[in-house]
Amino acid sequence: MKQFQYICPTTQQGVLDVINKPGTKIIAGGTNLVDLMKRGVTAPDKLVDINHLPLKSIISTPKGLYIGALALNSAVAEHELVARQYPLLAMALKAGASPQLRNMATVGGNMMQRTRCGYFYDTTMPCNKRAPGSGCGAYEGVNRMHAIFGGSSQCIAVHPSDMCVALAALNAVVIIAGKKGERRLPFTDFHRLPGEHPEMDNHLAANELIVGVEIPNNHFAANSYYLKVRDRQSYAFALVSVAAALDIENGIIRHARLAMGGVAHKPWRLFDAEQALAGKPVSEDSFKQAAQLAMQGAKGYGQNAFKLKLAPATIAEALKHAAGLA
Ligand code: SF4
Repeated sequence: MKQFQYICPTTQQGVLDVINKPGTKIIAGGTNLVDLMKRGVTAPDKLVDINHLPLKSIISTPKGLYIGALALNSAVAEHELVARQYPLLAMALKAGASPQLRNMATVGGNMMQRTRCGYFYDTTMPCNKRAPGSGCGAYEGVNRMHAIFGGSSQCIAVHPSDMCVALAALNAVVIIAGKKGERRLPFTDFHRLPGEHPEMDNHLAANELIVGVEIPNNHFAANSYYLKVRDRQSYAFALVSVAAALDIENGIIRHARLAMGGVAHKPWRLFDAEQALAGKPVSEDSFKQAAQLAMQGAKGYGQNAFKLKLAPATIAEALKHAAGLA
């Protein structure tokens, strides 16, 4: 591993003063970054440890829930407020990684983790995300885990997070600090599609820092479910996952929220299916129709074509669980 400088600023301003330099990376839990450094995928000159910043709080606000960027995944998943009011988030967090990793991984780090595409981690192989212009090994190669939505000829990688799928479904907002102050970004706009620049995973600028996320109040606590389909029951990334949340009154769906993981370069929100469900009775037929609608524009690339059938089945099943029909 290349030698690097390691610094621990104790203030947010101290972090902002140093992160805009080339070759500088932020480290918090390090559960992904250290792997990337050991494999030579990334080789920073300077690591900025942000663990001394006061960004661990999980608090109720008049508008909803605030979670600091350094709150541990395990702390959020086990928090009483989250379990009671945002069970979708707790379920998604508990479906991710392993207990040991969740004890180290932070909310901000979870958002910033890189794809687990094998070509990205193998520095002998072409990968536009790791080495722009080198090609995409997965496009016609080993792509069983890869995207069926939103891919480009440059990259068909997926974002690996479970937590982010739930936060996208819950209309979370990302709070970002920069030299000019704070800005707020809808969670669904934080990550980006690969397009011509797969090396960029999200819309965070080099001189910015995630300080927290906010989840607005909602009426989904009683009817939400995170369903993750994977090759083994723990410590595996999603083949397909679905965050489903329903607001039901007298057997009629007032509002629905749906997002998928394991299918795109970002958490994939199913806006058309959500609209189609609004006003419909709670029934398997409603769920199957919404699931089919959600698949518009899906495309397989060979080994991952099975997801074209797995995805709608998972959407319908997640909705059944959320509605209490499973
Ligand atoms: Fe690299 Fe993306 Fe292609 Fe994977 S899918 S090899 S991450 S460019």
